[in-house]
Amino acid sequence: MQATNPIWAEVQQLLQKTLSKPSFETWIRPAKFNCFENGLLTLIAPNTFSSDWLRKNYCETIEKATKEICGHDVKVVFKSETNLSSDLTNKEIINEQNVHYKSKSFSNNSQENSSRNRSKNSNGLNLRYVFNRFVVGPNSRLAHAAALAVAESPGREFNPLFICGGVGLGKTHLMQAIGHYRVEIDPEAKVKYVSTETFTNDVISGIRRDGMTAIRDKYRNVDLILIDDIQFLEGKEYTQEEFFHTFNALHESGSQIVIASDRPPNQLSGIQERLISRFSMGMTADIQPPDLETRTAILQKKAEQERMSLPRDLIQFIAGRFTSNIRELEGAFTRAVAFASITGLPMTVQSIAPMLDPTSVGVVVTPKQVIKKVSDFFEVSTDELISSSRRKPVSQARQIGMYLMRQGTDLSLPRIGDEFGGKDHTTVMYAIEQVEKKLSSDPNTASQVQKIRDLLQIDSRKNL
Ligand code: ADP
Ligand code: MG
Repeated sequence: MQATNPIWAEVQQLLQKTLSKPSFETWIRPAKFNCFENGLLTLIAPNTFSSDWLRKNYCETIEKATKEICGHDVKVVFKSETNLSSDLTNKEIINEQNVHYKSKSFSNNSQENSSRNRSKNSNGLNLRYVFNRFVVGPNSRLAHAAALAVAESPGREFNPLFICGGVGLGKTHLMQAIGHYRVEIDPEAKVKYVSTETFTNDVISGIRRDGMTAIRDKYRNVDLILIDDIQFLEGKEYTQEEFFHTFNALHESGSQIVIASDRPPNQLSGIQERLISRFSMGMTADIQPPDLETRTAILQKKAEQERMSLPRDLIQFIAGRFTSNIRELEGAFTRAVAFASITGLPMTVQSIAPMLDPTSVGVVVTPKQVIKKVSDFFEVSTDELISSSRRKPVSQARQIGMYLMRQGTDLSLPRIGDEFGGKDHTTVMYAIEQVEKKLSSDPNTASQVQKIRDLLQIDSRKNL
């Protein structure tokens, strides 16, 4: 297979000008040239989902563009890299990379409900959660493609789109991106994002005030509904009942439904069987934790957006430490930037690493070393440090001591409490929270913590 070809490169250039950026990047750019013979252009898509989507939605556009470049009629066919031997049709069930999609008939797709009220409601979308800011990796490629497909052609075969995955992996971001993009394509589209918690609260207040009509108006009068964290429906019988009818009404009128959940439908418990089966009737796409390369790309994008320049090795260091949750990955980035700007320390792995994770640079300290170093530093006796004294300098030193012990040792919160004269674990937790807050707001505390950390590092090396 040839990776590129001058004609296909020109067709791509032409399409780049006419299609929207997300559509081009998702469908056209990844399509590779295979061959061009007797007026037949064969393209290879990265997976069967994409080849199907191209065949159904972009065939004519590509044929027209190719004709413009070569000056004669051209037919285009699509194959998929994952299944080069067989030519799939949209009737087939794809089961790759944890994505399952079942194709359904198109019969309802252009159904319009002319009686819909077109007035705009606030749609609940966060401006940051757009496709442009979403970094696509192997972990999210198909969920992303499905999200884009739904935004381009809502209410068709992927209805509902069920996005599932662990905490902080981008479900909310992706589902809101669908909403933004839909409104961009059709400014008249009525889009609503709602958390399951809000839906539940609305149902409860509806019951109380005996006003289910208002809720029905609110939820059934939309073209695209995005419902987040559906696992919170577990065990809520009455809300499930209402949701079941909402779902059916929306589905029947051809509105698109997108649901996010921390688990796939069949792993939800305490949810009615009839709802589970509806959740599974469109497409289920999951997001996995990102690999190192994707995590690095996410941080680079974030640095670009915030116009920060971080050295490559620092980005890689952070990407290597925070592996299972993108929210935490972003949090570490923000802390690193804040810490460097408050302390004036250079943006290097050496200066930032200890604050993100002291054990990463070989710091192994004992609880006694922490107590000794903190009491020396603040000129407070160790007895006073572990006492119950509420004198401000003492309690501040104690909080920093607890924080450093948490970072520098693998002691649990109750054990740290024991080291500080039998304090409760909630006291330790509170102390750590206080220090964390101060680290990003009070340069004095940040520099004290850094100095003690440096001292501890020297000690631990001496003792090795
Ligand atoms: P979830 O809903 O799965 O718990 P979120 O969508 O809230 O996760 O994502 C957590 C944070 O990580 C958000 O700030 C989001 O913008 C960011 N994020 C998640 N996935 C990506 C990605 N692929 N590219 C860029 N940022 C991402
Ligand atoms: Mg979420």
